[in-house]
Amino acid sequence: MNDAVNVATRPAIAIDGERLWRSLMDLARIGATPLGGVRRITLTDLDREGRDRMVAWLKDAGLEVRVDPIGNIFGRRAGTDPGRPPVVAGSHIDTQPSGGKFDGAYGVLAGLEVVRTLNDRGIRTVAPVEVAVWTNEEGTRYTPVMMGSGAFAGVFTLEHVLGRTDLDGRSVGDELKRIGYAGTAPLGAPIGTYFEAHIEQGPILEDTGTTIGVVTGALGQRWYDVVVTGMNAHAGPTPMDLRKDALLAAAKLVGEVNRIARSESPHGRGTVGYLQVAPNSRNVVPGEVRFSVDFRHPNDDGLKAMERALRAACAEAGREYKVEVAAEEVVYFPPCQFDRECVAAVRAGAQAHGLSSREIVSGAGHDAVYVARVAPTAMIFVPCKDGVSHNEIEDAKPEHLAAGCNALLHAMLSRAGVAG
Ligand SMILES: [Zn+2]
Repeated sequence: MNDAVNVATRPAIAIDGERLWRSLMDLARIGATPLGGVRRITLTDLDREGRDRMVAWLKDAGLEVRVDPIGNIFGRRAGTDPGRPPVVAGSHIDTQPSGGKFDGAYGVLAGLEVVRTLNDRGIRTVAPVEVAVWTNEEGTRYTPVMMGSGAFAGVFTLEHVLGRTDLDGRSVGDELKRIGYAGTAPLGAPIGTYFEAHIEQGPILEDTGTTIGVVTGALGQRWYDVVVTGMNAHAGPTPMDLRKDALLAAAKLVGEVNRIARSESPHGRGTVGYLQVAPNSRNVVPGEVRFSVDFRHPNDDGLKAMERALRAACAEAGREYKVEVAAEEVVYFPPCQFDRECVAAVRAGAQAHGLSSREIVSGAGHDAVYVARVAPTAMIFVPCKDGVSHNEIEDAKPEHLAAGCNALLHAMLSRAGVAG
């Protein structure tokens, strides 16, 4: 692409890191918590306030704003070739109940800062440039997670997601109308390229002293509900040999999940995060245990191998402890490989600004994972303090956030092309 060469050879233009930081802090005031975090749960009044602020900023930057029926917001800066699909940067502004200032907000405001920089410099792009704000990424009030981007990409039907209800029975569709974001723009308008900048939410960049994570894809996930059925029995009269102790089998399996993940090093992950014992009484041999298994791996073969190992371990624990073990798969996210050229554009963006970078695989889901199903996509990670997120103490350095935004600007320009 000639335009890409053009961008690569001219001196790298830089975004305004202070303006980006100020916008992050401004947005973080909406739903600010006493401990320095943010609580801005999707489709609440605070979410509306955050959305209104975003829309005002997008309009101030001269963007044409539209909202689709699931409440995704897009702000478009026209290109010289209106026939080209846009180069889009975005993320989400909803948070966990005790979330931080950067998860999601950074990707949206980095996109806005790119547009503001283009405006300052009077740079016209060939393809249009857009900023996207996806609805309900966090999934804390409404499941499924990554709802807006999933509906956009056709993973969920609009009817399905609009009908989802929260614990009080209020539906997504009704709440969107109530806060004024049930839009009418067509769902799933074509995207030429999608980039998402995000804090890493893990410790690797900080540990290795690297500024930019060039994200090559995201781990696939398979989640299971496991039920171990033994028999309740009195802790005194029942001899050890004659028990059907469900917890004993479950305890062995918790260890097996860890062993299985370690055997798929370095990217395999295995977690038991939920465990419920019945009857949960100190003098009763447990008759039933339910627990969750979360497996992650960068490729499907690895995930399948982990599943086979889990099923073998369940069968063996069942025999050993004379209990029934049933494992049911409840969630499957396929592994995601981002587009090679988009990944290369991120790497080139880091190089152009003299930033250290390394390839990294996202362990978490992101809107980009769904958008990647319908458009060439890549992500940019920047370090966050101690790798902590989904926590009010979530923190990131202004210089790292600016660096990621510079890489984003460069990558977007290389894909959109500079006119003239
Ligand atoms: Zn996020």
